[in-house]
Amino acid sequence: PDANADLAVLVRSIPDHPRPGILFRDLSTLLLDGWGFRTAIDRLIATLDAGRVDLIAGIEARGFIVASALSYALTKGKIMLRKSGKLPGEAVGIDYALEYGTDRIEMHVDAVRPGTRVLLVDDLIATGGTALAGVSLLRGQGAVVEEARFLVDLPALGGADRLAAQGVACRSLLA
Ligand code: 5GP
Repeated sequence: PDANADLAVLVRSIPDHPRPGILFRDLSTLLLDGWGFRTAIDRLIATLDAGRVDLIAGIEARGFIVASALSYALTKGKIMLRKSGKLPGEAVGIDYALEYGTDRIEMHVDAVRPGTRVLLVDDLIATGGTALAGVSLLRGQGAVVEEARFLVDLPALGGADRLAAQGVACRSLLA
């Protein structure tokens, strides 16, 4: 069986959230489990070449949880990719399309220098729209973004393939 099957039982699916017809993968149950979260982070680290990462970028809000744990374990700094209007310093943002409407993420302009190698992380990749926005935002500031990591991938929605098409290698623990 899948070596990650034991983590899969810690993720629950909640129908009709946030809208009718959506089956939401709820990771709060994985976060409640100390062993589960630690194991998830350890397994993500095992997929990484930490020597090729300068900074870790997490997407608000659940991506912060993953980015924070990786940042601590690997002794790397982290970047908060925040929702609109939250950052106190000079910020740059990007609007991206959702299924209904648009959203926006922002980062501080001085968070990266040209050539900074950034690992992008979030809790889950679905269509990839959010992660691609993060890649574009970071690359627009000169960062090199070649790797992304997620706890969960919903492969039927094509996000990982879209990232790969943009030159971003994507790994996840659970599908
Ligand atoms: P995408 O932009 O890839 O379509 O959606 C991924 C983004 O939406 C991520 O930031 C993720 O946190 C959130 N998201 C979308 N669907 C789910 C889901 O079923 N469960 C969780 N935990 N997050 C989701």
